Amino acid sequence: MKVPFLDLKRQYLAIRDEIDVAVAEVLDSGWFILGPKVAEFEQQFAQYLGVKHAIGVANGTEALQLALLAVGVKPDDEVILPANSYPSAFAIAATSAVPKLVDIDCKSFNIDPSLIEESISSKTKAVMPVHLYGQPSEMEQIVQIAKKHNLFVIEDCAQAHGAVYQGKRVGVFGDVGCFSFYPTKNLGAYGDGGMVVSNNDRLAEEIKQLRVYGEEKRYKSVVKGINSRLDELQAAILLVKLKYLDEWNQKRRKHAKRYLDLLSDVDLTLPKEVTGSSHVYHLFVVRTERRDELQRYLTKRGIGSAVHYPSPIHFQPSFKYLGYRQDDFSVSEKASQEILSLPMFPELSKEEITRVSETIHEFYE
Ligand SMILES: *Cc1c(COP(=O)(O)O)cnc(C)c1O
Repeated sequence: MKVPFLDLKRQYLAIRDEIDVAVAEVLDSGWFILGPKVAEFEQQFAQYLGVKHAIGVANGTEALQLALLAVGVKPDDEVILPANSYPSAFAIAATSAVPKLVDIDCKSFNIDPSLIEESISSKTKAVMPVHLYGQPSEMEQIVQIAKKHNLFVIEDCAQAHGAVYQGKRVGVFGDVGCFSFYPTKNLGAYGDGGMVVSNNDRLAEEIKQLRVYGEEKRYKSVVKGINSRLDELQAAILLVKLKYLDEWNQKRRKHAKRYLDLLSDVDLTLPKEVTGSSHVYHLFVVRTERRDELQRYLTKRGIGSAVHYPSPIHFQPSFKYLGYRQDDFSVSEKASQEILSLPMFPELSKEEITRVSETIHEFYE
């Protein structure tokens, strides 16, 4: 039995009738960018999170970039983020601000709040916690530090649609929350898409302008914006899928529980849920010093796996200019050598999880 790391077709087949109707409706309407479907999806996504404003944009990276521009990040300002979240860094770099890396907590893989304060300087403008793998960051502490130092908080929720922290869904704890609808995410489009959410009227208005050339009205640009629009097809597809998000997240949690039970007696470090929050297992990430060996073993036996991410941001050649060195973020560096993402998606079967777990047992025997 082969087990894919991810199979998006299973989900499509399960909701095919609804999706096909929604797509045909958009094609018939002749309206393709920022139309009624986008408006409806924005409204429903805002309602789902319990937030005032939601603004559909082209992808998750630009959602973050727009949030940074809206809070007034300027070139050479510093923005704090965890050292292990590869995609997030590019949004900061796109604004010409400086990604200021902070090491992670070895258990949650999220930014270590106790290290934030020492990396704040007079140039720091914002903190960007990332709810990596679907697990909420420690927002209470992060927001407290940000308040004390007068910093904006921008949540990267690209892997955590529907994850709950202290009774509320992530995205509403900071000044702005940013989501990606890249096809593999917990709520995924059939193309690119993203969303910026906020309870702040001024920031929301700013982001609406910034996503269309900074226009106050058509062809009157009042601030330097970009072009980052959500399209009607993706919004129509996401409207169908949003109804299932909680059910799908429940399934991911159930699969995680099964993995945790079946793997409890092998020499692997398993994911741990931070108390008081609900992890939505965008990824199920285990940890072992024999990672490469284990991955080869699984691959040979037809079991998919992946590494998120194989190297921290400061090891990327394109971020060499930041001037960081080896050992600067030792927790992130060590994790990148040891983490392995196992198959995880809502449509995964019980038998497949058993098969993955048995194969891992065989490896250790
Ligand atoms: C996917 C992802 C992004 C970027 O989203 P895109 O839609 O691919 O641009 C940003 N941050 C994190 C943590 C992600 O997982």
